[in-house]
Amino acid sequence: MKEIEIIAFDADDTLWDNQPLFDNIEKELCDILSRYGDESQISTALFNVEMNNMESYGYGAKAFTLSMIETALKVSDYKIPAKVIEQIIDKGKYLLDMPIKVLDGVDETLRLLSKNYKLVVSTKGDLLDQQRKLIRSGLADYFDHVEIMADKTEKEYKKLILSLGVLPKDILMVGNSLKSDIYPALAVGMNAAYIPYHTMWKHELANEDIKNDRFFKVDAFSQLNSLLGVK
Ligand SMILES: [Mg+2]
Repeated sequence: MKEIEIIAFDADDTLWDNQPLFDNIEKELCDILSRYGDESQISTALFNVEMNNMESYGYGAKAFTLSMIETALKVSDYKIPAKVIEQIIDKGKYLLDMPIKVLDGVDETLRLLSKNYKLVVSTKGDLLDQQRKLIRSGLADYFDHVEIMADKTEKEYKKLILSLGVLPKDILMVGNSLKSDIYPALAVGMNAAYIPYHTMWKHELANEDIKNDRFFKVDAFSQLNSLLGVK
């Protein structure tokens, strides 16, 4: 790990809690729509709508809100009252302003690492939403560069490497999603540190069995210090 110059961090569920807040809103949506189906039926309908919309909406709270509304229209056979649509919009607005709970050890670890490395945020989702979350987190000052990608594909990682002006082997990508943060980063020649988070959106589930000498798994954010030999 001696060559590392830049550490790029995923944000949602790596720097701060995200998925549990979406899961809670999904549960509330199921309650609101309970007369039209049980929890698993509504959740499945929502997931299908989200997957259909993924290509045009991308990720994040606004996409999620539009998909919740579309789900409500569909499962109610277009009989959902306007007042209920308003309730759903309010749930989406809550997600856009949700309190940011920085994960354990993140602040102290970033403070230490920022003395020796250039730190970058590399996240996917809606530009304004992700920027506002970073500001609310209080962590923005640790980072030299923020890259908000439409999706975390190999092509987007190659663009990130070009914009950082270093070789892929000089970058360590840190994140909680094998599918978004680890596989594509390894594929373009970066190093990757996987920090599992306790819950995962089913769209992001992937096989953990990785054989690659540029792959590292750590159990907690603060272990990045020992992985990189920083004291
Ligand atoms: Mg994440």
